Amino acid sequence: MGQEDVRVLDVPKPSIGPEEVLIKVAYCGICGSDVTAYKTGNYVTGLVIGHEFSGIIEEIGPNVERLKVGDRVTGNGVMPCCRCKFCLGGRPSLCESMEMLGVTIDGALTEYVKLPASAVYKLPNELSLLHATLVDPLACVLHAINLSSFKPMNSVLIQGAGPLGS
Ligand SMILES: [Zn+2]
Ligand SMILES: [Zn+2]
Repeated sequence: MGQEDVRVLDVPKPSIGPEEVLIKVAYCGICGSDVTAYKTGNYVTGLVIGHEFSGIIEEIGPNVERLKVGDRVTGNGVMPCCRCKFCLGGRPSLCESMEMLGVTIDGALTEYVKLPASAVYKLPNELSLLHATLVDPLACVLHAINLSSFKPMNSVLIQGAGPLGS
């Protein structure tokens, strides 16, 4: 992907490391940040975009214990390094070497995506793979509400045309 340049290409199936999983993508959303990147060209050229996704695990690395082949999953597209001063100080959102799915590393708008197992979450059976693509944007909204002082039944104004009201 470059500025106003999106292409459909054949790409190799990713090979995974010992701590990673390979996921066969079921669905992948297109985020407002992807649209902005399309207009401005601010992603790495040639990168596979997409960070709001669901899928089924097809391979696991030898050191992965918490997940198994066949698990229905989604992933956290934001991966702090866990080593820098901000990560060690409890502020991973300010990480100096943050990896971001579909922004700094190949994303999920493709057939297969790989992720560190630590960034992958099993889905409950009652949640469809289609609806699970909304876990990432829903998490953003819930985080914002948790930071606010809103209480149930408060009146609020949601401003903005984006799907998150941003
Ligand atoms: Zn997004
Ligand atoms: Zn860090």
